[in-house]
Amino acid sequence: MNILRIVSLVLLVSSLLTVSIVSAYAQYPQDGEKYETLGVRHDTRPNVCLFEPNPTYVNWNYWKDVEFESWKAILDWQIEMTEFTNGEDWSMHIFNTVPYIEHWNKTPDDYRHCSIFLTYEAWNTKKNSGALGLTGIDFKKSSHKFMYIVVYLHAVENNKIVLDIGDIKENNNGTIKFDIKSERKELPLNSVYNIVLHELGHGLGLGHYTKSVKDGYTKSVMFPSLDPFNEQQKFKITMADKFMLTQIYGFDGYYKPHPIIIPDYCLFLNDGLMSNGCY
Ligand SMILES: [Zn+2]
Repeated sequence: MNILRIVSLVLLVSSLLTVSIVSAYAQYPQDGEKYETLGVRHDTRPNVCLFEPNPTYVNWNYWKDVEFESWKAILDWQIEMTEFTNGEDWSMHIFNTVPYIEHWNKTPDDYRHCSIFLTYEAWNTKKNSGALGLTGIDFKKSSHKFMYIVVYLHAVENNKIVLDIGDIKENNNGTIKFDIKSERKELPLNSVYNIVLHELGHGLGLGHYTKSVKDGYTKSVMFPSLDPFNEQQKFKITMADKFMLTQIYGFDGYYKPHPIIIPDYCLFLNDGLMSNGCY
């Protein structure tokens, strides 16, 4: 496998509007594996809202499959956690998908019932960014706290997933026009599932699981890179993931979260299952 094709699931925990996230990038442990949190959490059941992408750039049938994969990822977080904690309630509320024509000119404040925004864009227009998905956080405003996820549905299948400069043409009036490159392809559905599973992990407060090997995704869905056009690669929520979520919310689901203080990170032993302790 060409390792260059492994691209980053950039944890753009570049806060959407600004949040000070407890950053826990201390030293990388030598024999442990580090699993970080974002230092934030939901204090009630998460309300997940899906927003349809611009249908001009995303094939309708493909989008319906993407929507289905997204539901599967949401439900898998729910099912795995419920099973892990012997039946506690880890359900999330999934609202009806908001059509593009309804939301294209709206802001998150128009959807105050949503605490996780799951949005889709045709592709990443950021120059030199190979990100296939990103999560931002707005926990600043007191009344409407939310996580904002963007999943990019097309990428260029080559060594580096970046946008060529030739793609962007600026008009006289300053607006930017995008040309679709023929090499840009729809991501396989397994990849969409993997990305949603990963970004939703951020949406729930999980940071990254760091391990210095390329197959780190077998240890955690929060491993920060994947091979987008490998149709065999399927992320699966692991013990480490489930354990880590309980470090943020306790063992009894999203209601009345405890402990009071969210750990910055935990160190895992080499099997990715046992925690060495959380800090
Ligand atoms: Zn990430």
